[in-house]
Amino acid sequence: ATPTAILVGTSLGAEQGILIKGGNILEILQRTTVMAFDKTGTLTQGNLQLTDTFPVIDIPAAQLLTLAASVEQGTRHPLAQGLISSAQDLELLPVENIETEAGQGVQGWYQGDLLLVGNQQWLMEKGVMWHSQWQTEVDQLRNQGKTVIFVARNQQLQGFLALQDTLRPEAKATIAQLKHWGITPLLLTGDHPTIAEAIAMEVGIAEFQAQMTPQAKVAKIKAMQGLDPASVVAMVGDGINDAPALAQANVGISLSGATAVAMETADVVLMRSQLSDVLKALTLSRATVAKIK
Ligand code: ADP
Ligand code: MG
Repeated sequence: ATPTAILVGTSLGAEQGILIKGGNILEILQRTTVMAFDKTGTLTQGNLQLTDTFPVIDIPAAQLLTLAASVEQGTRHPLAQGLISSAQDLELLPVENIETEAGQGVQGWYQGDLLLVGNQQWLMEKGVMWHSQWQTEVDQLRNQGKTVIFVARNQQLQGFLALQDTLRPEAKATIAQLKHWGITPLLLTGDHPTIAEAIAMEVGIAEFQAQMTPQAKVAKIKAMQGLDPASVVAMVGDGINDAPALAQANVGISLSGATAVAMETADVVLMRSQLSDVLKALTLSRATVAKIK
C-alpha cells in the first residue's frame, strides 16, 4: 500500500469529519462484508422521552418515576437520561451503592431496601414476582415501539415505565445504500425482540438479534467473522454496552457524542454524528484502495 494514497485518504476523511485512526483502516474498511449496528443512540437518536408510567401497587405515578430516576442517578445510559430529565421537578432519593449491570439495568439501596431498575428478564432472574395480568399492557407498549423499564423494591414489582426513542432520519437511506453495495446490515441490541423487530423492519434490516449482553454482541461479531475467510465485520455503536463489540469488529465505528470509551476504541470516528457518514467512509476507502492498486 502506498503511504501517499493513505495519507491523502486520511486527510480527505478529516476534511469531511471522518477521523481514521490508523494506516490500514481504509484498506480493511474497503473489504467490509457485514456492518453491525447498535440500536439505541446509533440507529436511533438516543434521546428517550418518557411516555407512560404504570404503577402496579398503590403508589402515585410520580413516586414510581422518583424511584426509577433516583436509582439511575450516576449512570449514563440514554434511558437513564430520559428518566432523570422527566423527573426534573421531583425530589430524588439518596440511593446508595448504585451498580450498573451492563445491558440489563441498575440497582441501588435505599433505607435498607434493594431497588432494581431494568429490563423484565433481568428482574425475573433477580427473583421479582410477575403476574401475567400485567403482560398485556407491557406487550401493548412494546408494540408501539416503546422500551419498557421495570422497577422493583425488595423483589416486589412497583411498576413499569415506557420510553420512546426516535429513529435517525438518515438511517433508512443509509441501510438501503449499504445493501445496494452488497454489504449485509445487522442489528444487535440489548432491547426486547419486539422493539428490535420494529426498528429492523422500519430501516430495512433483515437480520437482527435482541436481548444481547455486551458479551453476546462480541460472540455474534466473532461468529460473523468466522463465516468465511473473506468476512470483514464493521460495527457501528455508541460505546454504551457495545464497546467490547467495537473492539472485536475488524473496523469499529463510533459517532461523536458517543462515550469516551467508544471514541477511544473505535478505528473510525464520525465527528459530524451523521449515520450516513459511514457511506462516505466506505467511499473514501474504495477511492484510496483504487489508488493503491
Ligand atoms: P441497546 O443495544 O439498544 O443500545 P443496551 O444494551 O444499552 O441497549 O440495553 C439493553 C436493555 O437493558 C435496555 O433496553 C434496558 O431494558 C436495559 N437497561 C440497560 N441499561 C439500563 C439502565 N441504565 N436502566 C434501565 N434499564 C437499562
Ligand atoms: Mg447502546
